[in-house]
Amino acid sequence: MDKLPEDKNTKLYRHLKKWLEKAVLDFQMIAEGDRVLVGVSGGADSLALLDLLNSPMIFVPRFSLLAVNIDMGFDDSYGGFDILEKYLSANDYQYIMEKTDIGLLAHSDFNKKNPCFLCSRLRRKRIFEIAAARGCNKIAFAHHKDDIIETLLINMFYGREISTMMPNQRIFGGKLHIIRPLAYLPEKVIKKYSQERCFPTVKNKCPTSESSRRIYVKRLLNELERDNKDIRHNIFKAMGHVKPDYLMQYPK
Ligand code: SF4
Repeated sequence: MDKLPEDKNTKLYRHLKKWLEKAVLDFQMIAEGDRVLVGVSGGADSLALLDLLNSPMIFVPRFSLLAVNIDMGFDDSYGGFDILEKYLSANDYQYIMEKTDIGLLAHSDFNKKNPCFLCSRLRRKRIFEIAAARGCNKIAFAHHKDDIIETLLINMFYGREISTMMPNQRIFGGKLHIIRPLAYLPEKVIKKYSQERCFPTVKNKCPTSESSRRIYVKRLLNELERDNKDIRHNIFKAMGHVKPDYLMQYPK
C-alpha cells in the first residue's frame, strides 16, 4: 500500500476510509478494472468522496477515476471553479469541467415551481453522456447517509411512495451503475473531514438551495433529533428492515 502523506493519515481519515470501503464491499460497488466517473459539484461532500476514492484502498479492487464537474451556470464572480480546477490539476486528477446553463434553464419562467426536478435531470443526462464518451461504467455520487434518510422522507411527503437513493443502482440494463460510496457516512463527519483537509469548496449559488424540500426535511429532522438523538440512524436502519406484510395492501 502506498504511504499516505503525514497530514492525511489522521484518525478522521481512517474512520471515513473504513466506512467507505465497507459500503463499497457490502454493496459490491466496485470491481477490478472499473472506470469510475466521480461527480464533483465542488461541495465538501463531493471533494471528500474524490479524495477518499483516490486514496490507497485496503480491500477494494483496483479501478480508475475521472472527476467531472458540471458548472450549473450560476454566478461565480469569486472564481470558485477556477480554484477547483487548479486543485484538480495540482493533484493530478483526470478531470472534465464543463460550463452549462442548466441551473438558469431550470429557474426560467416556465419551470419556476420545481426547478430541482429539471435541474437534476439535465445534469444527470449530461453526466451519463460524458460517462459513455469516456468509457466509464460506474458513476459515483457523493450522497451520504443523511441524503438517503432525507430522500426517503421527501419521497413519502411529496411523492406518495416509500423509496430512496440506492447505494448501488443498475441502469441502462446494467451498462452503467450509479454508486454511492458515502452511504454509511453522516454529513457532519464528511464536513469535518473537508475542513480538516482544507478542500477548496465552491459555494452553491443556486437560489433554490436554501428553500428546497431537502432543506425543509433537514430542519424537521434537526427538530426531532432534539427529543430523539437516534432518529436519523433509526430511520436509516428501518430501510433495511421493511415488513411488507405490515404495509397497506390496497385492493386492485
Ligand atoms: S437546489 Fe438548485 S442546484 Fe440543487 S438541484 Fe435544486 S435547482 Fe439544482
